[in-house]
Amino acid sequence: MSPRLSDLHQRVLAIKDSLTVRTQIAAAGAMTILVVVGLLAASAAWLSYANTATLLTSKLSSVAAVTAERLQRYLVTRQREVLLFSRLEPMQKLWQNDPDALRKSLEQLQQSFSDFAWIGFARVDGTVVAATGRLLEGKSVAARPWFKEGLNGPMVGDVHEAALLASLLAARPDGEPHRFVDVAVPVHGPDGALLGVLGGHLDWDWARRLIASVEANEGAHRTTITIFSASGDVLLGPAAPASNAGGAALNRLHRGAGGAIAEVAAADGMLTAFQSSLAFGDGNGLNWIVAASQPSQLALAAAAQSARIVLAIGALAGLIGIVMIALVAHRIARPIHSITREADRIGRTFGPTMLQRKGGSAEVVQLSRALRSLLRRIGFAEERIKEAEARATENARQFEDDVNRLRRLADTDALTGLLNRRAFLAAAEEAIKVCRHYKRGLAALMIDVDHFKLINDRHGHPAGDAVIKRVADIIAGCVRNSDKAARFGGEEFVVLLREIDADTAGVLADRIRSAIADEAIRAGGERVDVTASIGVALFDEADRDVQDLIERADQGLYLAKNSGRNRAVFMPRAGDSAKAA
Ligand code: GH3
Ligand code: MG
Ligand code: MG
Repeated sequence: MSPRLSDLHQRVLAIKDSLTVRTQIAAAGAMTILVVVGLLAASAAWLSYANTATLLTSKLSSVAAVTAERLQRYLVTRQREVLLFSRLEPMQKLWQNDPDALRKSLEQLQQSFSDFAWIGFARVDGTVVAATGRLLEGKSVAARPWFKEGLNGPMVGDVHEAALLASLLAARPDGEPHRFVDVAVPVHGPDGALLGVLGGHLDWDWARRLIASVEANEGAHRTTITIFSASGDVLLGPAAPASNAGGAALNRLHRGAGGAIAEVAAADGMLTAFQSSLAFGDGNGLNWIVAASQPSQLALAAAAQSARIVLAIGALAGLIGIVMIALVAHRIARPIHSITREADRIGRTFGPTMLQRKGGSAEVVQLSRALRSLLRRIGFAEERIKEAEARATENARQFEDDVNRLRRLADTDALTGLLNRRAFLAAAEEAIKVCRHYKRGLAALMIDVDHFKLINDRHGHPAGDAVIKRVADIIAGCVRNSDKAARFGGEEFVVLLREIDADTAGVLADRIRSAIADEAIRAGGERVDVTASIGVALFDEADRDVQDLIERADQGLYLAKNSGRNRAVFMPRAGDSAKAA
């Protein structure tokens, strides 16, 4: 992924993280609805517009077609009437011999069909024999197209301005030139010989009236009808409406191919349908083209209106859909918010310890269940941790006790409970450091039971042990807690006296001695007389270590033994003489 794409991806993720579920659902739903409803509404509107427009153009086409058919039927009917008239039996004797009677008959014909401005009969040479209002009688129409075509068969001529008649007819009230459509049929005698041509000029006003009635029928649609000649000239109606189909399609109609074209013209905002008039029964058609036009804005207003309604309904449906999705999104997100708020309070001071059961959707029920189960498991785990912690504390305490007990065992003499030699020496070293530092007095007593071998011998070894134990108790009872008393082996004891001077040490030694001597010790049911000798020494700056001090005390003990036992002898620093303590 390119850096820009990954940057964009990160931004989208950041936006998603900052949007609530409700907003995301609502946004996705709204977008979907907008797209779907928008597409549907646009398609429906377009279809509705197109259908309505098609309907309008086909209606316009049928207006043009009906008008063309009415024009055609009118002309065909007039032609047939003239043809019928020419073949009427009573007329046979009038064609050649009785111009007055013929004129009278022609004028009767004109009265019943007032659209004929002129009806006349011309001989084969073109001379008008009889005519309504005597107009053109005696004049030659040999050059007129209707005459020339009429010699060959029934014809209907295109509309034209009156050439010969114009000056003979009264002027039109609107000042427009007289225009006619010619209808002519050949007239034959009983023997079949061609006698001449019966021709009629139909006043073009009939077409004007027909079209006016069609336009009036269309009412508010403001439909205008235009009639073109085969050569494309406007015969009747407003200026030629623009045609998108252009020349090719019109030409096809002009060529007499028939059919219709319908189209929405762009140039002047007109919707126009073109329709060619069909050929007459004898195939001799005029090939007029009828165009029915409506202002496209007006014609398509209904189509546009229906499209607008469809779009409005689509917009309303979209709006309702968006509101409903927003409501649903709110309903979905509410329990999640509630769970989040509650979960945030769990474990805080005075907060709850368990989530309430939540509902609203299967997912929310599952989430609530899973969180409750998780909290229960966390609770169990916490209890187990507390138990383990309590056990560990208990074990640690036990361990410490054991260590202390072992340490005590390691430091004490099993028989007497006094310090053993190792522990005593360690404590003594420590005491000497303090003594040196603070310049305090420190003394050592070396105590040995007199003639112990004899006790063992006389009373037995267990009795000897009992004596050792008792002597140890007496020693311990005579010294302070801060003093250290130890059994150095056999019946030999050492005591370290702290914060003491030589005299006090001597007094204490003698007190121990006399306490032992005075004690009535019993062993094995017998009284045992026990005495002990004691060597006393005071710590000196010159002493290298505790061994020097003990050594001196031992020398004192030696002297005590040698000088009679049951006594304490103070052993001074080198050079001084020993003395009884
Ligand atoms: P002295 O007056 O010169 O000290 O004479 P003594 O007999 O006491 O001589 P010594 O101190 O040398 O003898 C110590 C005896 O103590 C030697 C040994 O048999 C005995 N002994 C040593 N350890 C123990 C013990 O733990 N229990 C008993 N019952 N006797 C012990
Ligand atoms: Mg001894
Ligand atoms: Mg002894």
